[in-house]
Amino acid sequence: MKVEFYKHSIDEGDIREVNDTLRGLFLTTGQKTRQFEAEFAEYLGAERVVGTNSWSSAAFLVLKAWGIGPGDEVIVSPLSFVANANVVLHCEATPVFVDVDGFTGNIGINEIESAITPRTKVIFPVHLYGQMADMKSIRKLADQHGIKVLEDCAHTIEGRREDYGPGLLGDAACFSFSATKNITCGEGGAVATQDGALARKILSLRHHGINRSASDRHNTRPVPLDMECVGYKANMSDIQAALLVNQLKRIELLYSRRVALCEYYESRFRESSIQTLKIAKNSKSARHLFTILAPVGTRDELVNRLFDAGIGTSVHFKAIHLMKYYRDTFGFREGAFPKAEEISARTLSLPLYPRLTNQEAEYVANQVLKGIERS
Ligand SMILES: *Cc1c(COP(=O)(O)O)cnc(C)c1O
Repeated sequence: MKVEFYKHSIDEGDIREVNDTLRGLFLTTGQKTRQFEAEFAEYLGAERVVGTNSWSSAAFLVLKAWGIGPGDEVIVSPLSFVANANVVLHCEATPVFVDVDGFTGNIGINEIESAITPRTKVIFPVHLYGQMADMKSIRKLADQHGIKVLEDCAHTIEGRREDYGPGLLGDAACFSFSATKNITCGEGGAVATQDGALARKILSLRHHGINRSASDRHNTRPVPLDMECVGYKANMSDIQAALLVNQLKRIELLYSRRVALCEYYESRFRESSIQTLKIAKNSKSARHLFTILAPVGTRDELVNRLFDAGIGTSVHFKAIHLMKYYRDTFGFREGAFPKAEEISARTLSLPLYPRLTNQEAEYVANQVLKGIERS
């Protein structure tokens, strides 16, 4: 049997939307993008969403809009995708890593507090695997020190914690619609914020600081456009938006199938030596990834055994500070962030997506248990 690590859930309705868009006038940012932005804002309960061509550009534009630059520090988790720290480097600012909570894998609150200095400008937590970081504590710390919070929501659209969801307590939040995310258009991203002035700034920065888009100009009498600041090229296209609008309508359905699969995996692994990170009380995980913690020293062998059994897996994540560039540039060594490093050495993500069949999930669970027994 061959079980892919991920298969998207694009259906005939999504394809029809794209077809309609292709037969229409606008391929770039136009009515479809605005529709997606409005519907996604409504889903989140956010004031405003601005669509971009990736999470990475979305996060970069937010940091730029806040004027983050050389000498500024941004607190990030070492247990995230490299983009999380890289966008800080793109601004020529300094990513300051702090260790995670070993229970959930999310950024540690005491660790953030100890890392705040007069140069700290932003706390930039990731909601890892679908579970929200403790945003109430992070918001409180940020307010005490007068700094901003940017949420990495690449894993978490459907997550909730207590009475809040992603994008509601941060000053801004960035989403990804890249290939394997909960809803996808191949590549794409968005910023959600309650701050209208920030949203207007991002609208301008995503298109070279030009104050009106092609579709704004389309139905009005020509007036000269102007450029108000040095922006970038990061706007979402209507083709991307067309792929997203229907997926957003069935996002809860897609989510509930992932929940069922996670519960199945959990029931199979309960009596084994396989551990998983925990989901905190009052927390609803978006269930983006199903990750296990393999017994110490066995993960890489297990990856190979699963590969030989035809099962695709992935590691989320190798700790960022242990990547070659970060070691060479900042001198990080093993032992700097022990809890993140332990997860980094033991974690393994199994296939988890709505199209995964019960039979495939059973095969994956059997092979994982077999692989662990042999180690
Ligand atoms: C996918 C991902 C990103 C980057 O998203 P892009 O849209 O590819 O730029 C950032 N952070 C995390 C945690 C991710 O999983």
